[in-house]
Amino acid sequence: MLANDAERGGTRDASASQGAAQVVALCNQKGGVGKTTSTINLGAALAESGLRVLLVDLDPQGALSAGLGVPHHDLTVTVYDLLGRNAPSIDTVLVKSGVENMDLLPSNIDLSAAEIQLVNEVGREHALRRVLDPIRDRYDYILIDCQPSLSLLTVNALACADGVIIPMECEFFALRGLALLTDTMEKVQERLNPGLDLYGIVMTMFDPRLLHSRQVMTRVAEIFGDKLYKTVISRTVRFPDASIAGEPLTTWAPKSRGAEEYRALAREVLDQSRR
Ligand code: ADP
Ligand code: MG
Repeated sequence: MLANDAERGGTRDASASQGAAQVVALCNQKGGVGKTTSTINLGAALAESGLRVLLVDLDPQGALSAGLGVPHHDLTVTVYDLLGRNAPSIDTVLVKSGVENMDLLPSNIDLSAAEIQLVNEVGREHALRRVLDPIRDRYDYILIDCQPSLSLLTVNALACADGVIIPMECEFFALRGLALLTDTMEKVQERLNPGLDLYGIVMTMFDPRLLHSRQVMTRVAEIFGDKLYKTVISRTVRFPDASIAGEPLTTWAPKSRGAEEYRALAREVLDQSRR
């Protein structure tokens, strides 16, 4: 067991790379909590260990695409086109991320129209599933970066996900609104996707010098117990710096603390898949 533990992260993981990808939605209707940063860096950390990763930008702001250096404003085809009728081939939308083993389905502001167009469609909650199902066997992990609302797009992500990771900022009001998110997850589970699971909560922007950061951690641990990932992501300006550079922190500053933290999170997520 221990020997296997030591190997993890360094080698391609055969047990996790067979069959269809696990689909994970990074979800929290609060903005600025680290969804996009976690999608990029968790994805890059998984890809670094040899797993095949697809990131899906499901936020019309396109921050995921921008954070990977993709000039999303100029794109003519995006996730939006895949969700609609007469969708083009997915291969015309897929882009390589600059990180080996990691692809991206980019978005831009066009996606904001999808919500309105989907409303009148039959099976509107399963539009994203219809897009992703045919390519699930090409990847080991598909990570979906959700927008900061419990919109139809977010419901689409939950309806096709195996698991949800909730990034949560280490702030006093972090827990506010969380009940609404877990309610939504329960409804999706009952009505659309019985297989949906809460994988865990990852605390971001932790500052060990601040008493309140530590207090928030204690409270969240009391409430969520083993649903809280052991890995905590520290607050550091290197994250915004890396995204301006259009790279994950894991490649921009591979030895940085933040990069190591996302590698540790990736190992926890991989361990969950084995259970
Ligand atoms: P969300 O997708 O939930 O809106 P982001 O990942 O875009 O959140 O993060 C919001 C802002 O905070 C971005 O500018 C990002 O670079 C920055 N950020 C994210 N994680 C951290 C962190 N651990 N430390 C410092 N800044 C961070
Ligand atoms: Mg975001």
